[in-house]
Amino acid sequence: MIEISKVSKWYGSFQVLTNCTTSVKKGEVVVVCGPSGSGKSTLIKTVNMLEPFQEGTITVDGVSVGAKGTDLPKLRSRVGMVFQNFELFPHLTITENLTLAQIKVLGRSKEEATAKGLGLLDRVGLKAQAAKFPGQLSGGQQQRVAIARALSMDPICMLFDEPTSALDPEMVNEVLDVMVELAQEGMTMMCVTHEMGFARKVADRVIFMDKGNIVEDCTKEDFFGSPRSERAQLFLSKIL
Ligand code: ATP
Ligand code: MG
Repeated sequence: MIEISKVSKWYGSFQVLTNCTTSVKKGEVVVVCGPSGSGKSTLIKTVNMLEPFQEGTITVDGVSVGAKGTDLPKLRSRVGMVFQNFELFPHLTITENLTLAQIKVLGRSKEEATAKGLGLLDRVGLKAQAAKFPGQLSGGQQQRVAIARALSMDPICMLFDEPTSALDPEMVNEVLDVMVELAQEGMTMMCVTHEMGFARKVADRVIFMDKGNIVEDCTKEDFFGSPRSERAQLFLSKIL
């Protein structure tokens, strides 16, 4: 589904990604972790070209994201992305947040988009919040709306960048529960997260990054059992 091959990226003379190669197969859940500044956000954003890169190739469902002529808006509409800070439209109601892109990008009717959006809102446990504005919801609720919004586009895969790291601790699980459910339903997912409980539960593979390099790319059993690199061992000893 996602093929990342020999990707390198520089900010000026600073190399932020070095020869990164990995893949996410259909239905697979891959967790990306590593120290702050190691390039996790940059890597995941290259997948839908929110961050351009200078070398290498990335394909999503066979479409080369960096190639000239690729319809990026179309590609992005098929790749769901959930960020740390929810990024809901503050001046729109929850229902409007859930339907806007369906109507504008996918051309769905308002009725169809609303039915779809409210169904997903119900699924993340927030049916009663449809008429509210994002600012009236807790962080955990806003993040669940953000996930529902991404799902409303019928994505072929989902990218998450630390979706729980801005939340108060008591709200982390309500968001992780939704992600676990998605994973168990077979959604293809690439998740930057330090929630190792989530990784243990649903990850098929764990990628560990350090200084722009992918230094581990292995099953969760191997990662938690016997990481090869000293850097990953040190990282695990600090967070587990
Ligand atoms: P964190 O865990 O803190 O989110 P990360 O692993 O996601 O870190 P990135 O955000 O991908 O790391 O950043 C990787 C490196 O690139 C960091 O050293 C960062 O300072 C640098 N960087 C990120 N964005 C830019 C930018 N626009 N210009 C220059 N350097 C940048
Ligand atoms: Mg980051």
